[in-house]
Amino acid sequence: MHSYSSLIRHEGNRELFTFVELAAIGIIADIPIHLHVEGLRGTGKTTILRAARHILPKISRIKDCLFNCNPQFPHCPRHKVLTKDELGTVVVEQIPVPFLEISHSAKIGTIAGSLDLARLTDTEQPEAAMLPGTLPRSHRGIVLVDEVNRLADTAPELTDILLDAMGTKPGRVQMEEAGLPTVALPLSISVWATSNPDEDPGSLMDIRKQLSDRFDFMVQMERSVEAEALVSILNLDHKPEHLRGKIPAADLELGKYLVQKASRVGAVKIPTTIVRSLAQIYIKHHLESLRSLEAIKTGAILNAARWNRPEVGWNDVLTVTPAALRHRLSPEQLVAVLQDLKQERDLVNSRAVVACADCDQNEPGSADRHRQQKQSGGIWSRIVAWCQRVLGRRRDRYPAAAKRKEASAGGNKLAGIGRRPQLKPENPLEMPLVAPPEVARPLLSLAREGAITEGELIDDPTRAGKAIRTTVGNEADEG
Ligand SMILES: [Zn+2]
Repeated sequence: MHSYSSLIRHEGNRELFTFVELAAIGIIADIPIHLHVEGLRGTGKTTILRAARHILPKISRIKDCLFNCNPQFPHCPRHKVLTKDELGTVVVEQIPVPFLEISHSAKIGTIAGSLDLARLTDTEQPEAAMLPGTLPRSHRGIVLVDEVNRLADTAPELTDILLDAMGTKPGRVQMEEAGLPTVALPLSISVWATSNPDEDPGSLMDIRKQLSDRFDFMVQMERSVEAEALVSILNLDHKPEHLRGKIPAADLELGKYLVQKASRVGAVKIPTTIVRSLAQIYIKHHLESLRSLEAIKTGAILNAARWNRPEVGWNDVLTVTPAALRHRLSPEQLVAVLQDLKQERDLVNSRAVVACADCDQNEPGSADRHRQQKQSGGIWSRIVAWCQRVLGRRRDRYPAAAKRKEASAGGNKLAGIGRRPQLKPENPLEMPLVAPPEVARPLLSLAREGAITEGELIDDPTRAGKAIRTTVGNEADEG
């Protein structure tokens, strides 16, 4: 495995690096962040996520506690009963942030917990006790689920446990074994997952929408199309981890930088105007899940802390919104929401000159990254590119449906109602939004002329286009 700092950043993976670092700030500040990365096979999703453990600082726990009890707030059955004086005498140790993986051969017992057979068969002092599984042992750390869409498809019972663990913050896990009392524990874990929606069984959203919604952010990962980036990737040191030595200084330095940013999180304010606007957008665009608003709010606070802003601004909101909503809305809805948010931001910008949004000269490697970001045209070009990809992919996947849709749009065009705006590849945010001319009414309440338009297509010399010569009523609709 590579060190985090040595990994090559390019246009296709830049968003993932941003969200991994925001999630790291969150985890250091005790805010678990659930991250889902979608992308094609071989784009390096899992490599980046696995390498990210090196930038997280160590945590202190009560020595040898498999549940990673915080010495100040113990939660496991053995330590939560200790008095304040007893806690003062426990031995504390520093451990790397727990980073465990759930494999596809996992069972409920290995994830939640099972009977501790070693203790049961101890010849000196046999006792029946629970052995914590992957989730309780990841408390205060990260659980990685590779190909989460396949897991959701083949192991719904494991998905149910994940739903429980990710439902609230902190979540919970229940360890059950016949003959032993059930143990329920609070759980503060960040679930990071990857999937490839273009391979079987398809997108997590389609397989288990409930689980997809549990993720705060869904990041899109693409292949590199920059030759320079590819050359750098090929030139990377591919020695196995055990031959490469210790965590490099650059990762440790970035870790320290993120700790400093995390210390600001608690002090970041979010203006009431922004909260109100988000609430209005929630209602206007019929967002299904309140989690989406919470994700935008938390992400914006983390982003503001990262760039040393005492208060959340619209740029923070706009940075995190695509990843907070793309697994909860259709691409068209997302564009409409972003358009509204952008209008809000422009309104504020027209009142005050805003300094360069995401620029911190003190961040390790920031100069390069900032230059690359400027060259890439920033977040808007990425959103536009993503919309085009998703719309294109849907067309590829369901060509017949896309054709039907296009045909029906063409039909509407002829009748002059509900014309679909043309998608300009340069910037979908500048697409004209065309509302239906009138409020919809039941068919039966319409007069005959309003319900049916009959006519023939003719050339209209006055309008340089086609028009319909109607036989009902006396109007000619523009075509
Ligand atoms: Zn404990």
